[in-house]
Amino acid sequence: MDFTYSDEQKLIRETAREFAEREILPKVRDNDREARFDRELARKLGEVGFLGAPVAEEYGGRGLDYVSYGLIAEEIGRADSSARTVVSVQTSLVAGSIEKWGSEEQKQKWLPRLCSGEALGCFGLTEPDTGSDAANLRTRATKTDGGWSLSGQKMWISLGNFSEVALIFAQTDPEKKHRGLACFLVPCDSDGFTTQEIHGKLGLRSSDTAEISLDSVEVGDEALLGEVGDGFKVAMSALENGRYSVAAGCVGICEGCVQSSVDYAKERKQFGVPLARFQLVQEMIADMILKRDASRMLVLRAGLLKDEGKPNLEETSVAKLFATESAVECANLAIQVHGGSGYVDDYPVERYLRDARVTTLYEGTSQIQKLIIGRQATGISAMLPFEES
Ligand SMILES: Cc1cc2nc3c(=O)[nH]c(=O)nc-3n(C[C@H](O)[C@H](O)[C@H](O)COP(=O)(O)OP(=O)(O)OC[C@H]3O[C@@H](n4cnc5c(N)ncnc54)[C@H](O)[C@@H]3O)c2cc1C
Repeated sequence: MDFTYSDEQKLIRETAREFAEREILPKVRDNDREARFDRELARKLGEVGFLGAPVAEEYGGRGLDYVSYGLIAEEIGRADSSARTVVSVQTSLVAGSIEKWGSEEQKQKWLPRLCSGEALGCFGLTEPDTGSDAANLRTRATKTDGGWSLSGQKMWISLGNFSEVALIFAQTDPEKKHRGLACFLVPCDSDGFTTQEIHGKLGLRSSDTAEISLDSVEVGDEALLGEVGDGFKVAMSALENGRYSVAAGCVGICEGCVQSSVDYAKERKQFGVPLARFQLVQEMIADMILKRDASRMLVLRAGLLKDEGKPNLEETSVAKLFATESAVECANLAIQVHGGSGYVDDYPVERYLRDARVTTLYEGTSQIQKLIIGRQATGISAMLPFEES
């Protein structure tokens, strides 16, 4: 494997860093304090091509490789995980799914608007009673003349209150279990489609999070993404790419923790010397660097496999598990290096901890990643104690 970045990839990283410094960092603290979703920033992310970066150019994307996409997620994630969530959801979960599973008409209709940031999309998988057990959805899709009627509830849906289109996963035939699931492209202004903002999050405060209600929402047959019965496959393929971008964003958090801690330790003096002179402080910095570097390598490995079109389910889960847990640990250590100053938002490290915390939960919890890795290693699924492999 070639663990170096090409000149083009380095340029993309530099562009993303400059964008973050110019457009994100000046507002990040206020947006977080006020729990404000910055719709204008989402539009700007689209304008510079950071939404749908790996989507083909003919559909409005940039046709970039996955390693480059990971670098974008890393740089945006270092500045603000809420903005990185927009990149991940819009690119991996929504646009990526439409590009992979959609009809030509669906691609033409939605991808240019999603990639430009003119429209936002959301990914409606989780429900109040169904999280990790994603095959067990309660939302029902009932066949009508020429279409479908959708009813149910979706929970924790990022960008849900600001989206023009929602990918809604629903059960068409409960007896078929996950083979009965289907995915629908639902315009969010449809009759019976309502959203409610979820308040009071620990972190990711300037990311929009919604509860969605579907009350007999009517869609035509052309709303189906893929075939009836493809829903579970659509969701899993989306999450495999989404997890990659979450992991990359967490490399950015680790990097931010290292940089902020190094700067602070060199500047702040105690006992007449900079904190950086203390071995115990250097140990914390070294631990962060280990986690950052290992996370970055694992993300790069997953990205290279994606670019080569090789299977990467296990490698993506390894990267997601390690990078997200590392981000939480690095943020915790970074607060320790900053002392009391790390506990308030004059420095980014307390936000890093609050924002990192959700990454071990969404797009498959750390436990679910371990079950995927264990299943790949043994050939035996332990998701359910009595499930057949
Ligand atoms: C801020 C935020 C944004 C989100 N955005 C989206 C979104 O855009 N779209 C979307 O569809 N969802 C979204 N989610 C939902 C997220 O993906 C789920 O929260 C996650 O999948 C976990 O589901 P759950 O919360 O129901 O937890 P549960 O599944 O109830 O899990 C609770 C605990 O039990 C453990 N557990 C569950 N099953 C097993 C098992 N078989 N073996 C061992 N342990 C197990 C879990 O690891 C966890 O520790 C978001 C969540 C948050 C908090």
